[in-house]
Formats: sequence, structure tokens, C-alpha cells
Amino acid sequence: MAIEPDTKDWTWVLRRPCAECSFDAAQHPPEGIAAEHRAGFPRWRNVLGRPEVRDRPDESTWSALEYSAHVRDVYVLFAERTELMLAQEDPLFDDWDQDRTAREKNYGAENPDRVATQLVVAGEAYAALLDSVEDWERVGRRSNGSRFTIATLAQYGLHDVVHHLSDVHG
Ligand SMILES: [Zn+2]
Repeated sequence: MAIEPDTKDWTWVLRRPCAECSFDAAQHPPEGIAAEHRAGFPRWRNVLGRPEVRDRPDESTWSALEYSAHVRDVYVLFAERTELMLAQEDPLFDDWDQDRTAREKNYGAENPDRVATQLVVAGEAYAALLDSVEDWERVGRRSNGSRFTIATLAQYGLHDVVHHLSDVHG
């Protein structure tokens, strides 16, 4: 099973619409993003309840279970990075290799019910954190030089979740 490492830099999605899932960051003001995540939780639960949740469409595409486990970990990561930006001035984020994480945690062998619960818990924690933000312009950096505000990181993260929901036809 060969999954291509995702080395693409997705920050362009903050500047122009995504041709694959039609997400347009300009249409998603940060103040509304927590509610958008919450609206997605029942759709992820549906996806994870499907009998074919473990099936990969082809050898280079994740199963719905693997995408869901990834989104759960995205929620954890984005909450951590947002907390860091709230607590520190211009922090440098730790690198995150999403493909290594997927291999090490063996997403495909996880329990779909448990992933559903964990995804909603992690997503709600991130949404609650966004609810608490007063200054959306606080900044942080990735080691590759990409710079985010809490607002653009929230838009970036929402695209990731929306894009994967479209990947799994959720
Ligand atoms: Zn997209």
C-alpha cells in the first residue's frame, strides 16, 4: 500500500479557492469557523458508521477511517498551535509529519466508533478555543517560513477538514 507523502504546501488556499473542493477562505470569516466545525461533526459520525469505512478506494488513497483519524489529529494539532499563539509572541510551531503520524498510529486499524468520539471531542475542544479568541491577529510560524495568524490558521484548518469531508463524500 503506497500512500504518496503529502509534501504540498497548502497555504495558497488562503489566497484563492480550492479547485477540488471549491473552498474559498474569503467566504469563511474566522468568527464563524467554530460553528462550521460543529456542523460537520454529525457528517463525520455518518462517515464512520459506514460498513465500508475501512476500504481504500485505490492503493494510493486513504480509507474514510484513515481520513477521519487524520482530521481528529488535525483538530488536536490546530488547538495546540492556537494555544501557543495565544500564550506566546510569534511562536515557532513544532514540525508535524502527517504521513509519519498516520503510519505510526496505524490509522487503518483504529476502531471507527472510537475515532468518531475522539474526532468530536477534539473538534469541540478546538471550536471552544476559537470561541474564546479575542485577538485573531496574533501570529505564529512554521519551520518552513509560513506565517499564520490565528484567523488564517483557522481558515487553513477549516479547509483541511472540508476538503477531507469531500474526499470521503461525507
Ligand atoms: Zn480543497
